[in-house]
This record gives sequence, structure tokens and C-alpha cells, in this order.
Amino acid sequence: MPITILDHPLAADLLTILRNKQTEPSEFRQIAERLGYLLVAEALSDMKTEQIAIETPLEPTMGTRLRRPVVAVAVLRAGLGLLQSVLTLVPDATIGFAGVQRNEETAEPMEYYTKFPSLGAARVLILEPMLATGGSLSWAIDKAKESGGKDIVAVCVVAAPEGLAVIEDRHPDVRVVAATLDRELNPHFYIAPGLGDMGDRLFGTL
Ligand code: URA
Repeated sequence: MPITILDHPLAADLLTILRNKQTEPSEFRQIAERLGYLLVAEALSDMKTEQIAIETPLEPTMGTRLRRPVVAVAVLRAGLGLLQSVLTLVPDATIGFAGVQRNEETAEPMEYYTKFPSLGAARVLILEPMLATGGSLSWAIDKAKESGGKDIVAVCVVAAPEGLAVIEDRHPDVRVVAATLDRELNPHFYIAPGLGDMGDRLFGTL
């Protein structure tokens, strides 16, 4: 499934603030949340809807609501930076967590915690802001599929071509929505030009 890159001046503006190394964690969190609204709206743009009868103050009319529930799975810890965007746009979304740590030498994912709500009937948004090697995202998608997830969209801030190729190969049914497709992974598996370590930028760790 193709990647969708947000083509929106507001997204480009917000991404630039995230990339800037002078942006402090408090602003970084706010900007990530605002960019998250645009990413989540795009990730839900093809949701099926159903018609419902309502009454405006003036007259009866037909309205629309989402036909299926939404689940967000935050890949810890950086995925937490997009979680509030989902909850604000879809307050009755249910939330899962995928705890995976990157082995800094091999860049392979190491699981330490997973907890998912029911996924079978839902649009599952996997929140993985930095699609670098694709190892963590691919692992989280595997876990979501093992738990019954069938309709999965990955929500990323920055994607690298190397990670995207991994997802296209292992999970061709999964759509990726991102704010940018960057140039490459560097030898330390960071995305360049990127924005650094998203978890550290969000939470002020080093
Ligand atoms: N994870 C990050 O937070 N940043 C990168 O550049 C790559 C992986």
C-alpha cells in the first residue's frame, strides 16, 4: 500500500519546528500534538461512515457517523507524543501499548510490554513517529495482527526509505501516513536529516 505524505503548509511548518534542535520539550510536545491532528485526520480519511437521522434546531436531517471503532496503539515511548491527538479527535477510541526497545547495537526490536484492547472490528492506528529501520513498526504490526487487527494504518512523523521498504515488503496491506519521507538512515540508525531521538525530544531525556 502506498505511503501518504502530508502535503500541507501547516504540516511543513510544524515539522520544521520539530526538526529544530533549539525546540525545547514543552514546545516540542505541543507541536507534535498539533501535527498529530493532521496525521490522524489523514489516517482516518478513508473511514467508512453511516447515515443517522438527527434533528437540528430547525428541522430533521440526515447526519453521518463513523461506522467502525478506532483503536490507537502507541509504540512506547515516542508514540505517546501522538496519543492525545487521537483522543482529542476520537474521544471514544480505545488505546493499546506496544513496549519495544531498540537494541542500540543491532537495531533489532526487544519487547518489554504489550497490552491491546479488542482490535478485530476497528481501524487500528499504530503510532510510531519515527519509521527508521522498520523493525519496531513491523513488530508492532505483527502483534496487532496476532491480536486480530485487520485494518491497520501506521501514523509516523518522519519515515526513512529503508524502513518504508521493510514495511512495504512485510506488510503490504498496511498504509503508512507520514509528515515527511527523509533522505536516509545514518550509520547509527538515526533518520537524516530527521529530528533526533523523538522520545528524548518529547520527554527531555538524553
Ligand atoms: N528513533 C528516533 O527517535 N529517531 C530516529 O532518527 C530514529 C529512530
